[in-house]
Amino acid sequence: MSGGGVTLKHRTKPPPLRRDQALFLDFDGTLVEIARAPSLVRVPAELPQLLGELADWLGGAVAVVSGRPLDELARMIDPFVGPVAGQHGLERRYCDGSVTRCPVSPKLAEIRSVLAKFAARYDGVVLEEKGGSVALHYRQAPTARESCETLIRRLALESDGAFEALDGKMVTELRPRSGGKGRAITEFLAEAPFRGRVPVFIGDDTTDEDGFAAVNQLGGISIHVGGGTTIARHNLATVGDVWAWLARGSPNKSRGHKARDWCSEQRIGQTATATGREQGVAQQASDRHRPDPARHRRDRASDGEHGIKINVADDAAAAVR
Ligand SMILES: [Mg+2]
Repeated sequence: MSGGGVTLKHRTKPPPLRRDQALFLDFDGTLVEIARAPSLVRVPAELPQLLGELADWLGGAVAVVSGRPLDELARMIDPFVGPVAGQHGLERRYCDGSVTRCPVSPKLAEIRSVLAKFAARYDGVVLEEKGGSVALHYRQAPTARESCETLIRRLALESDGAFEALDGKMVTELRPRSGGKGRAITEFLAEAPFRGRVPVFIGDDTTDEDGFAAVNQLGGISIHVGGGTTIARHNLATVGDVWAWLARGSPNKSRGHKARDWCSEQRIGQTATATGREQGVAQQASDRHRPDPARHRRDRASDGEHGIKINVADDAAAAVR
């Protein structure tokens, strides 16, 4: 099993990337610096090329695994056309370019409506609509954290298990339980060109912990970016260090070093503080990542399976207190 979280001093630098491995990469806070809002993130021009070179070196076994919507993520890393998982695995793009998306619960519209009313009452709270999931960002309104998390948890409880709350860096999210980066990684590993390879996963946030759990369980390499408590076994300090480490596996060795300099200039307060909440998430990361190919549908459709009870017509007011 994954074991509990460990502090930074107990983690080690990751060994060099090997050609028989499969590489899974988070996006925000791992490949690019976190910005004040998701839409403000700056993507190094060399990122698609770096991903392409790594894919060539690893036989195509490179995937970006992010909480962002797949289409948005695909635009940001274009012209890289390799595998991608969006919305924590609810959406996936395969090597052949085909895309699958999990069905969207029709009840999500009610949840979205509640959260939109809530966000409208808080200056700086931003509602992100991802398709199958929703998120409240409070980076520009840090005092709203408790209210945001309370509301998201309440909506998760009232969904009768269909949705779960997920807290990240200055963001709290409501997503279908069928998601999760650990599951996405495990499902990729069941298919070519990932099958039979040792997984390596790099991430920076609590939302990456179940990805670390999956990789640890499979005997792979789990790498956490920044400080804080995590179940990852290795550490890289900054986004720039991630680039430098990746560049060691790329034919263009200078790419990572140039990007590290760029990251140093662009860095916007990436948090590295361990909190009790983060520790709890790390320790509770579980084996929720068994392959379940049937959960994906080739077409987006309403499934009507989730009996979500949204009896909180004025939940926003209740949460604001
Ligand atoms: Mg991240």
